[in-house]
Amino acid sequence: MPECEICGKPSDGRIAIVEGAKMQVCPQCEHLGRTVWVPQPERREEPARSRAPMEFEVIEGYGQKVKSTREKRGLSIEELAKKINEKANYLERVEHEKTLPSESLCHRLQKELGIKLMEPVGSGSGPASKSGEGGGVTLGDILEIAEKKKKDD
Ligand SMILES: [Zn+2]
Repeated sequence: MPECEICGKPSDGRIAIVEGAKMQVCPQCEHLGRTVWVPQPERREEPARSRAPMEFEVIEGYGQKVKSTREKRGLSIEELAKKINEKANYLERVEHEKTLPSESLCHRLQKELGIKLMEPVGSGSGPASKSGEGGGVTLGDILEIAEKKKKDD
């Protein structure tokens, strides 16, 4: 373990410029200079992109969707609640969009009613493939824009 060059305590390896000199410092001493390097925890080095597809958010109008589908099936809130093993008043609050359904409730409602209540975060207001040719920006477009900017400079 490296030592802090200011106080001698163990350092995690961070480097700061203190009075013009590059020094190994500990977190307690780093404010004495300008920190130029902090060790990164190894586990966080995975690309942010790999996490994104795993995150889902509840779609807009989820309450109305649950309510209308439930009514089409001729089910009361109580009946549906029983089927998915949920409290009726919780389900009612969800239908009125006073509360967001938990991920687990979403899964149960989706399965029971055959509807989609969640979509991947960052997909915008709808599936990207549907509005693809309309206003969607493709990687090609981005490259083209970047190319144009280069020429302008
Ligand atoms: Zn120190």
